[in-house]
Amino acid sequence: MKHGTAKPMPLPSITLKDIGGLPEEMKDEILQTLEIVKEPERSKRLGIKAPKGILLYGPPGTGKTLLAQAMAHELGASFFTASGSAFTELFVGVGASRIRGLFENARKSTPAVIFIDEVDALAGKRKQHGGEEAEKTLTELLVQLDGGHANEGILFIAATNRKDMLDDAFLRPGRIDFSFHVPLPDMKGRKEIIDIHTKGKQLSEEVVASLDLLADSTSGFSGAEISSLFESASRRAVREGRELVGMADLDYALDRTILGSTSRALNDP
Ligand code: ATP
Repeated sequence: MKHGTAKPMPLPSITLKDIGGLPEEMKDEILQTLEIVKEPERSKRLGIKAPKGILLYGPPGTGKTLLAQAMAHELGASFFTASGSAFTELFVGVGASRIRGLFENARKSTPAVIFIDEVDALAGKRKQHGGEEAEKTLTELLVQLDGGHANEGILFIAATNRKDMLDDAFLRPGRIDFSFHVPLPDMKGRKEIIDIHTKGKQLSEEVVASLDLLADSTSGFSGAEISSLFESASRRAVREGRELVGMADLDYALDRTILGSTSRALNDP
């Protein structure tokens, strides 16, 4: 999606169970955080401030967007989403007015989650940032995040692969209250993700028997790569007129995924 949504996005019914490889403590912390957001009155009585903003950071394809969707789902919130790059306009005032529009729309539809992916394009360190217009857009984001009562019922979630590039003013508590690192999955995590993405798929017995080994041999793969591995294997099986995904399909998909990652790494050092 290019620009911020005027209407909330229809939310896929993603829950935390659909996301593999998340450390248990992280899931617990997320659930506790959501409890606080869900019960603002109780939190006030207990003297706990409801978080306004959450940052998800980590390598591409690890499930940050899924996690934002699962949080919105858990909160029963409408979901407004945009990519940070949609606000980097050269024309005067357009980026800032899109930010305002996004928050105004969300305020009309609370409880709401505003999710900004690639937030580094919008909230990068000011000294390294692209000039006056980018600075104005970031300032507008900070103003909107400081909206006080107007932001009741809104949870802001931002995601980035480059937390180190973000401006300190953006990361200040009260704007971003919690940061969660979403890592590449370890072997156990990869097996969870494999289980999620093979559910309901027609796999040969040989493939089923090889899934533990696959989890072991896919070190460095993201959830997105594991998902695309099974998509690619299933597509090949269909192309060849078979109903079951066999070892040859999986090997073919594995080669393609590894080749894709290698050429990406070479082009993007
Ligand atoms: P980016 O940083 O590139 O925006 P991301 O971290 O937001 O990526 P997602 O968009 O959430 O990653 O993941 C893309 C797809 O990969 C998901 O729709 C899902 O199919 C699969 N996927 C990624 N991570 C996981 C995971 N942890 N568990 C299950 N599926 C996953």
